[in-house]
Amino acid sequence: MKPSHIEHIGIAVKNLEESIKYYEEVLGLKCYNIEEVKDQKVKTAFLKVGEVKIELLESTDPEGPIGKYIEKKGEGIHHIAFAVDNIEDKLKKAEENGVRLIDTTPRKGAEGLDIAFLHPKSTFGVLTELCEDKNK
Ligand code: ZN
Repeated sequence: MKPSHIEHIGIAVKNLEESIKYYEEVLGLKCYNIEEVKDQKVKTAFLKVGEVKIELLESTDPEGPIGKYIEKKGEGIHHIAFAVDNIEDKLKKAEENGVRLIDTTPRKGAEGLDIAFLHPKSTFGVLTELCEDKNK
């Protein structure tokens, strides 16, 4: 697999604006992009720490994945995303290694990345996202 780096850490929040304030005013980071991902029923905000991004996720629908997550577990770290090349290959290899896939083929995520999730039941409790920037 060998990801090149952690692309981002996804954090589920109830209120995007309030959480951005914390990251900007307390941690001194800068939000550089806010984007709605309709498919995921979320509004996302991105901040950068070195090469790694923080992806804040606010649900736009209580029935969406983040809405349900917050209802069950509350706010907090939702997933970790690893940057990979040849995401289709990496998914196939993960599956061959017995990992349960949430997405068998990549789909479009925020910032135009190709993304796919691995099931936390196969990844020791961490919802894992693979992502590839094919625009690079
Ligand atoms: Zn993500």
